[in-house]
Amino acid sequence: MRVLLKERKSSVLSPSTLKCLNGTPTLNPTAGCAHLCSYCYARGYSNYPGDGTIVLYTNLVEKLENELGRKRKVPEFVYFSPSCDAFQPIKEVLDTTYSLMAILLKKGIGVSFLTKGRIPDRFIALFKLHSNSVNAHIGITTLNRQIQKQIESHAATPGARLKNIRALTQIGILPEIRFDLLIPGLTDSADNLDPLLNILGKSGIKSVGLNYLFLRPIINRNIREGLGHTEAMAEISRAFCDNVDIRLLASKSRVKALNLDFRQKQYNRISLLAKQYGIKTYVCGYKNPDIAEDLTCSNIWQNNSDKKAFQYQLFSSQHSEITLSQSSNQD
Ligand code: SF4
Repeated sequence: MRVLLKERKSSVLSPSTLKCLNGTPTLNPTAGCAHLCSYCYARGYSNYPGDGTIVLYTNLVEKLENELGRKRKVPEFVYFSPSCDAFQPIKEVLDTTYSLMAILLKKGIGVSFLTKGRIPDRFIALFKLHSNSVNAHIGITTLNRQIQKQIESHAATPGARLKNIRALTQIGILPEIRFDLLIPGLTDSADNLDPLLNILGKSGIKSVGLNYLFLRPIINRNIREGLGHTEAMAEISRAFCDNVDIRLLASKSRVKALNLDFRQKQYNRISLLAKQYGIKTYVCGYKNPDIAEDLTCSNIWQNNSDKKAFQYQLFSSQHSEITLSQSSNQD
């Protein structure tokens, strides 16, 4: 992986239009991401430096201090990172992420993140000192290393992600789990998900977010490159043959999604499977606006006791069923 060092001109903290990030600024330490997940939409962004290269901004720490110093009201949380992973396996990136998170946490500002990387021990030690201010989301869809390598070639192994979950839980941070993104015929089967849910349930996980793969031209190309030689590709093509065009919430572009009926049935099936292990599920409204538009994941990235209570209220299976049936009525 080639690391290009560059000064950042624009602000470090960026607002997000996503409902679930409701007022939470976002921070990307890099442009591009070393994990190279085949379903990654950020690989199509205009500032994407190309596969095999990431741009690491050199002046983020100084700029963050300046920006926070100028704010009349500092944010409650900062979200890492909508277009890259904060825990890419590159020392310079990890050093920068560590400095940024340490500044925020020491100022009493919470950090939220979603990662498919390995969280190094020094971060766990930092988070232990600020456990009420850390909101961790771990992306994982399989325990099978071969499958994981096919879809997320340079991300952490399933074993390393389970280790993240254990390490966070041990310091009092119960992470949210994201089945993000589920690939039809590859990672959504009971054979694949049952052992994963079993181990998550035993680890004390209470809630899992569900999202299916959607296609944009760049994702289509990368998925074909990663899986074109496998049986799974035929399954994916079959599942997408009656796809629907949807506009992701707060996004200008349209994507090809699996049809509504397929997603509803599969989300319900996975919810029932999860229930056996004491785990509640929810569907992301951003990526499923035709199913869960009203299911606001507001404050999902912030973690204080009031908001946590609100969040779990939304995750009741009753709520999920109501949302699904309301959605079919609308159709
Ligand atoms: S970890 Fe996230 S940002 Fe990085 S390649 Fe995978 S999906 Fe994209």
